[in-house]
Amino acid sequence: VIVESRHQLVESQGRRLVLETNRDITERKRIEEELARSLQSKTDFLADVSHELRTPLTMIRTNAEVGLHVARDCPHIEQLEQIAVGAVRMSRLVDDLLFLARSDSDSPPLEIKAVAVPLFLVELAGRAEALARERGAAFEASLCGEGWLRIDPARIEQAVLILVDNAAKYGSTGDPITLTAATAGGELYLRVEDRGPGIPAEDLPRVFDRFYRGKTARSDGRSGGGTGLGLAIARTIVEAHGGRMEAANRRGGGASMSIYLPVAQSLADTPEVRSPIG
Ligand code: ADP
Repeated sequence: VIVESRHQLVESQGRRLVLETNRDITERKRIEEELARSLQSKTDFLADVSHELRTPLTMIRTNAEVGLHVARDCPHIEQLEQIAVGAVRMSRLVDDLLFLARSDSDSPPLEIKAVAVPLFLVELAGRAEALARERGAAFEASLCGEGWLRIDPARIEQAVLILVDNAAKYGSTGDPITLTAATAGGELYLRVEDRGPGIPAEDLPRVFDRFYRGKTARSDGRSGGGTGLGLAIARTIVEAHGGRMEAANRRGGGASMSIYLPVAQSLADTPEVRSPIG
């Protein structure tokens, strides 16, 4: 039997008394433990299924791509194209699910390094610009920042590229996507902005939820192919680094998505980050 004791100081007729209450919490503890076990097995199941799906999906994708390559005049080329596109989409979804399932049972796999802010920003902006261009969008960067980060640079880059990809998907064509970076108050912020319609107020609190897609995203063909997992993954990555994310709208219109990371003045005092499995 597990008992929870509480002590309370009460005053009665000028005298101070200690009131002790004992509660049997055996049942509550049992339910809590059962819940934790079932959550863990659900996570393990999701991770196992995602992992098992990877191999057959890669096979479908490779074969469809080979077919497309050799059978340009085949009358079923369109179906073959659809198979290839579907397989790519599913592989991406499976990778995203696997990442989130693994992060649920542990923190996400990170390869933490000490990184100098200026160098990191230059490399990051290069990748962001390449992605924006690939998506047919103009890109501008305003970078300023110093100090050191203790991060997995590839993962932080992944989070920023998710934001750039969204800015290209949902922003307006023709207007540039901007990346602003600066250090302030012990933090480095990385802000990706577009000049599209922005995020409707009712969607703002939910955009980081898994599988959440805004109404326009669901109906707009241009952004089709999304899974609603991008921002959930970005936030998981950033929070595993001890940082945070914010979704807002620009005053002049358009979305403004920010990542905040703890930054240290010198290499010696880079904050420790919980860095688990590889
Ligand atoms: P996905 O893009 O696959 O739908 P995300 O998790 O990346 O999933 O984004 C969730 C939702 O947030 C999107 O469906 C969209 O409604 C909204 N959103 C994200 N970025 C922007 C943006 N730059 N402008 C407008 N809406 C956005």
